[in-house]
This record gives sequence, structure tokens and C-alpha cells, in this order.
Amino acid sequence: MTTALFTHPECLGHITPEGHAERPERLRAVLAALSVPDFAALERREAPLATRAHLLLAHPQAHVAAIEAAIPAQGSVALDPDTHVMAGSLAAALRAAGAGIAAVDAVLAGEVANAFCAIRPPGHHAEAECPMGFCLFGNVAIGALHALDHHGLERVAIVDFDVHHGNGTQDILWNEARVLFCSTHQMPLYPGTGEAGEHGAHGNIVNAPLPPGAEGAAFRAAWETRILPALEAFRPELVLISAGFDAHRADPLAQLRLGEEDFAWVTERICDVADRHSGGRVVSTLEGGYDLEALAACVAAHVKVLMERGG
Ligand SMILES: [Zn+2]
Repeated sequence: MTTALFTHPECLGHITPEGHAERPERLRAVLAALSVPDFAALERREAPLATRAHLLLAHPQAHVAAIEAAIPAQGSVALDPDTHVMAGSLAAALRAAGAGIAAVDAVLAGEVANAFCAIRPPGHHAEAECPMGFCLFGNVAIGALHALDHHGLERVAIVDFDVHHGNGTQDILWNEARVLFCSTHQMPLYPGTGEAGEHGAHGNIVNAPLPPGAEGAAFRAAWETRILPALEAFRPELVLISAGFDAHRADPLAQLRLGEEDFAWVTERICDVADRHSGGRVVSTLEGGYDLEALAACVAAHVKVLMERGG
């Protein structure tokens, strides 16, 4: 059994305005890091386009139509101060969501042990009815709903260690008892949600906010005391990761102080839960991470663990 890498060149075609943090160079840095001999055993697969039916798992028709209608023939259009679309954005976003769908299919079919989706734009800020925070569609939420509705799973966990709260994932899955959504994130920080008291309609959401300046020890303690016990009790049949690496100390968008070793550690702990309850089935999807060097190093550390655990 191997680890699959899902990506597509069209994810580079979502070209944000000059100076924007969420830029094609991020994905180029990630793919360069995964092109060295250490990663030769990755099973490289092309991310398909998500279908409209996939998007409608998480979003109303009006949201999908509004994104499609906003795409300009030339130049870029701001959907909000952070979130822009241009001619290549729709294809990139459909590949980003499609990667997660295909990765869930491959892992649940037993073709690969686990998978990493190297995609952009990211997805965890996209609410059911609102694009925001660089995100157009809820990539990981869509993958979870696909696993439930298409594959008939009963319990899917999403863990999100991006430094920003996954407000979109939380919004889409607030009423979904079949999904446990767990997040560590800096607070206060964009988007402002993710208080420890936000539990979801069925107690299906676990938020563990961390203060600015928190280091690896506080991050690991939050996982050990809050998130891992909740995951263990939930007994997920599949674990999805919103893998943002902007909690790294070098990241320009936030003030947590993690290092590569902390991302490797949390990946190990997530795989431990997956080994006990999910047959090791893990699908990880890229979210944030805006210092190119740190992003590349963290993705390498994360994927290395997935490969070791999947092999
Ligand atoms: Zn982020």
C-alpha cells in the first residue's frame, strides 16, 4: 500500500493579484519539495474536476452559480477584500474539490493507504453560501459529505490544524451529526470564529483556540487533552485533514510558533487514531501556509509521515 499524491497543473492557473499571499508559487514550492527522491514512492494521480453534484453536497445551487457568474474573461474580480477570481479560478477550484473526492474514492477502495491533495485554492473558509478567505468551495467538507452519501460511511472526522479557524467547514457541517470537526487555531485571528464554546448542533464540533505566541508544547497539549480524546470517542471510519501550515513560526499571516516537528507529531497522532478506528484511512488536503520555505518543509514532514504510516 502506498500514499497517493493528487494534484493538477490547473491549480496553478488561479492567479491572484500581485502581492497576494495565496499565490501559485505556494503550490510550486510544495510540488518541488515532493519531487525529490525521498518521495519517489508517492503514487502520483491527476485530480479530476469536481462535478456540480459534488459541489451541491455542501453548497446551494445559488452559491455555485454565483461563483461561475463572477469569473471574468479578463483581469480579476474581488469577491471580498481577500478572495479574488480570474479566468483560471473555476478550473482550479474544481480540481481542488475534485482531488479530495478522488482521494476519498481511492482510499475507500483500498487502492492506496492514504493520500495528500496538493491543491489550491484552499477551502476551509468557504461557507455554504459565501466564498471567503481565499476559498471558493469547501473542499474538505465536500469530501466528507461524499464519503457519507456516496460510500455510505456513518462517521467521518475532519481535523484542521491550519492557524485560522475553519469557519466554512464548521458552517457547512454544523448540523451534520455524522461528522466530527476538530480544529486548533490562533485566536484572536481571522475569521474570528472558533471559540471553545462553539460545539455544533450535535456536539459534533471541537474547537481548541490557542493564543498568539503559543509554541509547540501548547499546540500538542491542546491535541492531547481536547482533540485526540474526542476523535478517539468518535471512532471515525475515515479521517480527513485540513492541512494548513501557517501555524509555523515563520508564517507571515499569524503568530503561532510551531516547527516542522510539530506538524510531523500531529500527523503521527492523527494516523494513530486512524489506525485504531479507520483502517489507517487518511486523506489530507492542503489549506494555508504562506512562507514558501516553511510550507515546503512542513509539507515534506507531513507527507513523510503519511508514507511511513501507509507503507
Ligand atoms: Zn490559514
